[in-house]
Amino acid sequence: MNRFLFAALAASALATPIFALAQRTPPPLPAAVSPEVERLRDAALTDDVAWTIVEGLTTEVGQRLAGTEAEARAREWAVARLTALGFKNVRVEPYQMPVWERGAESAEILAPFPQKLTLAALGNSGATPAAGLTAEVAVFPSMAAFQAAPDDAIRGKIVYIGNAMPRTQDGAGYGAYGTARFTGPALAARRGALAIVIRSIGTDHHRFPHTGTTNFPQGVKPIPAAALSVPDAEQLERVAARGRPVRMKLVLTPRMVGMRESGNVIAEVPGSDPSAGIVLVGGHLDSWDLGTGAIDDASGLAITTAAAKRIMEAGTPRRTIRVVWFGAEEVGGMGGAAYAKAHAAERHATASESDFGADRIWRFQVNLPEEATPVADRLQTALAPLGITRGSAPGGDGTDIGPTLQLGTAAIDLNQSGWDYFDTHHTPDDVLDRVALPALRQNVAAWTAMLAVVANAPEPIDPVKPR
Ligand code: ZN
Ligand code: ZN
Repeated sequence: MNRFLFAALAASALATPIFALAQRTPPPLPAAVSPEVERLRDAALTDDVAWTIVEGLTTEVGQRLAGTEAEARAREWAVARLTALGFKNVRVEPYQMPVWERGAESAEILAPFPQKLTLAALGNSGATPAAGLTAEVAVFPSMAAFQAAPDDAIRGKIVYIGNAMPRTQDGAGYGAYGTARFTGPALAARRGALAIVIRSIGTDHHRFPHTGTTNFPQGVKPIPAAALSVPDAEQLERVAARGRPVRMKLVLTPRMVGMRESGNVIAEVPGSDPSAGIVLVGGHLDSWDLGTGAIDDASGLAITTAAAKRIMEAGTPRRTIRVVWFGAEEVGGMGGAAYAKAHAAERHATASESDFGADRIWRFQVNLPEEATPVADRLQTALAPLGITRGSAPGGDGTDIGPTLQLGTAAIDLNQSGWDYFDTHHTPDDVLDRVALPALRQNVAAWTAMLAVVANAPEPIDPVKPR
């Protein structure tokens, strides 16, 4: 072979991959964000407003079950605080809702090994007679085992459903293992059970039962329904595993007290361009009645409100930021439904809620129209220094904003780590002590950056297909 031809062939063989590499699209450069966004984000890392809201609401109001006088006091507190913080158009939008209240609650194993158990009634639970109800317990280690059992193993019994909810960062276990609470009681009622106790939907091993709502559809008479703390549930399973019939006495006297007033508290940072749509943020004001609702959801109110205040103080944003403290989430999402009904005719650009505790945000996800893709790209740049990555699934999560998203509103989710959330979720241990200031501040910084980007984005943010 001619050595020049060889050299040419060798060069072309070498050149091919180099040429191919050169043709490959280089990774995109991060979208640029304005120094003002970075300044606002970094200043929020020393925020104290969020802490004063969580501390104030949990101390001066405490528990605030939806539709009760406690939630009414919380609304008054909210109006005073939001007004004092300088927000505009602060108001309450009331609605009526059916109210459930907890009564006495206790449980004991009568045989074969008499002992007391710790439990809490589930929201919407029916009641036992005041003197209690005694029956044999039908023990099922899982929802699947309960569903597979014949009706005559259930009829006339107190049903127990176990489940061991795994710990996950994104909280995925709640949906999968929560069915024992969401639908187990109604299924047990339909199949003739006298009552039901479940293993708490929680990841801790402390003696705190996790309450939460259950639902009895129209036509299904509610039966007494409660959650045992995880150690008590495991104790009941050990007792049953000895193979002798287990008799339990249950006293649960909650009651439905009829229709009462609840309300959403609304505050705004008015924008300069009303045609650009509203940026909706918030959390829920109500809480379960066992703790003081610090992580669920005083922290969500605090984070979103502190962030909105920072944008307000930096000048008038393009879009109006509306902060909503939804009045009733826990017991059936009445606040979010009432809001969407009252504001269906208004143009919302985006909706986002904070209702997953007070731990650090690790990911964001969006459901934005195509033309707003650059907004998501700028969010990625603005949030990265806080340790937040961009998820690939469509955003649009939350009970309170759900009905508004169904109207076609675009969504931006800032996902908090759920690793520890279900240790104290809906327990008497959901108190201020569970909130860590550094993590709370990281949340405020992330929400501040998000609002700075989205409320001022020049791109249109049009309605989307709900995910
Ligand atoms: Zn919540
Ligand atoms: Zn909750």
